[in-house]
Amino acid sequence: MAKKYIFITGGVVSSLGKGITSASLAYLLMSHGLSVSIVKIDPYLNVDPGTMNPYQHGEVYVLDDGAETDLDLGHYERFTNLTLSRKNNFTTGQVYFTVISKERNGDYLGKTVQIIPHITNEIKKRIKEAGKGKDVLIVEIGGTIGDIEGLPFLEAIRQMGYNEKRENCLYVHLTLVPYIKTAGELKTKPTQHSVKELQSIGISPDIIVCRSERRISNELKEKIAMFCNVEKEAVISALDVDTVYEIPLAFKKEGFDRLVIEKLSLDVKKEPNLSDWQDMVNAIKNPKDKVKIAFVGKYVGLKESYKSLIESFVHSGADLDLKVELKWIESEELEGENYKDLLKDVDGILVPGGFGSRGIEGKLNAIKYARENSIPFLGICLGMQTAVVEFARHVAGLNNAHSEEFDKDTEYKVIHLARKWEKEGEIVTRDETTQKGGTMRLGSYPCIIEKGTLAYKIYKKEKIDERHRHRYEFNNQYRDVFKKAGLVISGVSPDNEFVEIVELENHPFFIGVQFHPEFKSRPLKPHPVIRMFVEKSYETRRIKA
Ligand code: GLN
Repeated sequence: MAKKYIFITGGVVSSLGKGITSASLAYLLMSHGLSVSIVKIDPYLNVDPGTMNPYQHGEVYVLDDGAETDLDLGHYERFTNLTLSRKNNFTTGQVYFTVISKERNGDYLGKTVQIIPHITNEIKKRIKEAGKGKDVLIVEIGGTIGDIEGLPFLEAIRQMGYNEKRENCLYVHLTLVPYIKTAGELKTKPTQHSVKELQSIGISPDIIVCRSERRISNELKEKIAMFCNVEKEAVISALDVDTVYEIPLAFKKEGFDRLVIEKLSLDVKKEPNLSDWQDMVNAIKNPKDKVKIAFVGKYVGLKESYKSLIESFVHSGADLDLKVELKWIESEELEGENYKDLLKDVDGILVPGGFGSRGIEGKLNAIKYARENSIPFLGICLGMQTAVVEFARHVAGLNNAHSEEFDKDTEYKVIHLARKWEKEGEIVTRDETTQKGGTMRLGSYPCIIEKGTLAYKIYKKEKIDERHRHRYEFNNQYRDVFKKAGLVISGVSPDNEFVEIVELENHPFFIGVQFHPEFKSRPLKPHPVIRMFVEKSYETRRIKA
């Protein structure tokens, strides 16, 4: 159980930035020395987003413990530096799954199992677990007020205001105050309606955060306050900003953190010092120069599916005083003869993670181009696997080499499902059926780095931990062949069974990693792999100029 709870709901429309609002508030409260955690509740029936289409859901963010979560968890970790776990994100699917399993188990002793109290109790239990030992728990309710799916969650948080005492709970409602061009006015009606809806289910918000593209005047704040039954000071304006990392600073200016501290009578422990954060924001807004990186992906139409990766470039760019300009290229477009033209103007080439065979040949072309033209290259997960295939075909002379994921019949399966490996002198066999469906190598795994390699130059240490999300692996059968042909295996799992990092010598920067470095990049601590990739790409740019 946490000492205090802050519930964040959203109204009017989706995509107002509840996740960023929650993360920014967590950051600000932590800057006062408070211990804070944060939980996201997703009102859909999927047990987790692991099986959802990136077009619908955006990125699946992976935690250390292997939980596949909503991308808001990425914002939380980036803003707070906390390491979260599967307790910090749950869905309707999980809640019902638990309750129905209990029912089948006879745990309810013949009672009628109902949404209230059984589902709501399970929700409250999970919220309390997520807040254990913390001064404050921020609870973000996904979806928009008025959605049928969200009702059990709203009922649960309403009850918490009663069970945990009203003075220990704070309800924050995020709404939109749209600007109507023809009238030349900001409109408060949608906010009024949304708050009314919330009040009709028994929740009176204490603080209203208003997203708008124009400044909200004092007069307007008063109007919102009056119609929504809050004090004028409790109407916070959230203007559009250049970078999301500016939001905590903007909230601070509005006195959001002070207001929360007062309303919850929080015992603050220190004066905040946001100067490093402010410097980082300044660096993002006023870069000295730029660098152009090709982002060769499959879902480039939907940037949300590469959220963490995009952010990781912002972090590294800020640290290097550079604007990282991403040139989005659908890998299919690189399948034709003109692929070189599309890559001519870039300083670095990135092939990110992904699933499915569409566009693979285009990725191979991009990698070949990077290898042959000394363009810095970073391959992540599928990008690393594709780099291995490219090397096999064009350097090691294994003509039709492929990943087993895309060609089950090829003679040279250089990337495969690891069915068997040796562990402490014994052969471990993995049942093939357990490789299907949601069974992936997920979460944080250690990796041992070979001294004297590019990977060592990047990490400056021998043991690292990185997050994984994949089924296929480098096929160990080819280690020697590849080594002879010049591929450097610079990172392996501690038992030496999994190849985690490959690289090329005699190239300014060419590296493939089986894991996802982007999940561990933070605004004030850019990920070293991505940082050096950006740095080397910039060097290439300067040489070209
Ligand atoms: N599809 C590949 C695999 O399952 C790569 C996954 C990824 O890039 N995350 O191994």
